[in-house]
Amino acid sequence: MNVLIDEEQIRLQIERTAAEVSRRYRGRPLLMVGILTGSFIFVADFVRALDIPCEVCFMAASSYGDSDVSSGDVKITRDIDRDLSKYDVIILEDIVDTGRTLARITEMLKERHPLSLAVITLLDKPARREADLEPDVSLFTIPDLFVVGYGLDYAEKYRQLPYIGVMDS
Ligand code: 5GP
Repeated sequence: MNVLIDEEQIRLQIERTAAEVSRRYRGRPLLMVGILTGSFIFVADFVRALDIPCEVCFMAASSYGDSDVSSGDVKITRDIDRDLSKYDVIILEDIVDTGRTLARITEMLKERHPLSLAVITLLDKPARREADLEPDVSLFTIPDLFVVGYGLDYAEKYRQLPYIGVMDS
């Protein structure tokens, strides 16, 4: 495994971004929506770096199955039941690749009329974008590589690695 982004770099970027979110959303009814499974570690670290209150919930979408090739068909496999009209919503995503997952989720959540909606992604692979969707904030922009670790898997493995890595080919 080759380290692409180490623990310290992740920690620093989360601190910076969480400080900005804390400043911007202070006094607001903030709901963080994590996209399972890949974002679970990012969400856990991000909300602990905030110094304002927030609520946390999770949605799940699947398009990859056990493969590393997207099928392009995004299914919402777990939804949330909050009344979004009462919240400023931030979607926390692990990685934006083609953008299809996020396009589908943002379209769905917008229809529920949140007070505001923003997308923060840990990783962004703009080279592979297909959907007309850009995250509001990306902590790291990466080249067109398949990455694992810090929540991201290959066939359900490597999620527990504390860094973002690229498998040896
Ligand atoms: P998109 O819909 O943007 O093409 O894909 C988003 C989802 O595909 C991510 O939430 C993630 O689950 C998966 N994905 C995309 N690129 C990678 C990658 O480099 N590594 C891993 N482990 N998953 C990826």
